[in-house]
Amino acid sequence: MSDRDGKIWMDGQLVDWRDAKIHVLTHTLHYGCGAFEGVRAYNTIKGTAIFRLREHTERLFNSAKILRMKIPFSLEQVMDAQREVVRVNKLESCYLRPLTWIGDKKLGVSPKGNTIHLMIAAWPWGAYLGEEGLKRGIRVKTSSYTRHHVNITMTQAKAVSNYSNSILANMEATDDGYDEALLLDASGFVSEGAGENIFVIKNGVIYTPDLSAGALNGITRNTVFSIAADLGLKIVEKRITRDEVYIADEAFFTGTAAEVTPIRELDRIEIGIGSRGPITEKIQSAFFDIVNGRNAKYAEWLAAV
Ligand code: PMP
Repeated sequence: MSDRDGKIWMDGQLVDWRDAKIHVLTHTLHYGCGAFEGVRAYNTIKGTAIFRLREHTERLFNSAKILRMKIPFSLEQVMDAQREVVRVNKLESCYLRPLTWIGDKKLGVSPKGNTIHLMIAAWPWGAYLGEEGLKRGIRVKTSSYTRHHVNITMTQAKAVSNYSNSILANMEATDDGYDEALLLDASGFVSEGAGENIFVIKNGVIYTPDLSAGALNGITRNTVFSIAADLGLKIVEKRITRDEVYIADEAFFTGTAAEVTPIRELDRIEIGIGSRGPITEKIQSAFFDIVNGRNAKYAEWLAAV
């Protein structure tokens, strides 16, 4: 990924892609305290726009706050910088990755007295779980790894360190021939995918784990809440057991990268009709209308670059 043309925003400067480097003694590299975002820009009918830029940027600042890191830029500066990165790289649609980290002034667990940095990169990135996955649904395996407990790592921070748990779960599931992992919380209730929130549908009602199960407060999750309200569908946040997923009529994952991806199987048990269900399809199509600028009601969620 490091050998390509383009510009990366680093601490206020646009740096050539190949020169956007940090030192091996960077604190975050050693101890894993850092935070990031995953954001998407879409080629909407009114031109390129970043979806829910403010909410993503606010979550980045909140993640940093939880980790006791002070980002040395304002929210507005970081929003402007993301627009700039899409513009200068001449991207019509892309994935954006802002990341804040602790510098290389000193090592030792305490980061006190160290510097805080921020970078933003952007590149084209298609369907995270595959085009086929979006249409037909994916195969998921319940992970043997437990999702973080809410008082072990901070689950409302999109923290770098939280992702070693996601990596283990994803590698285990994909090594076993599945597309993605589903993690349970420390009490055995459904939490989330390795990089996605989960929804299940039963008898026309949509259910999703409440955030006490350690799931990230996903921005796509929140978008689905609005879509469901528009479609007259009820959403209930509650504790969900893995067997509730087995006997659901439909299930799907949400995420900035994963968008709205149907789940057709969990642990080799077919969910509902074993492909994208009708309510999932409606939600998915409403989602793509919104992100592509085809629903005027949500125009304010699209920040022109
Ligand atoms: N959970 C995890 C662990 C994630 O990494 C993501 C992706 N950011 C999500 C949920 C979905 O969040 P969002 O919809 O804000 O991308």
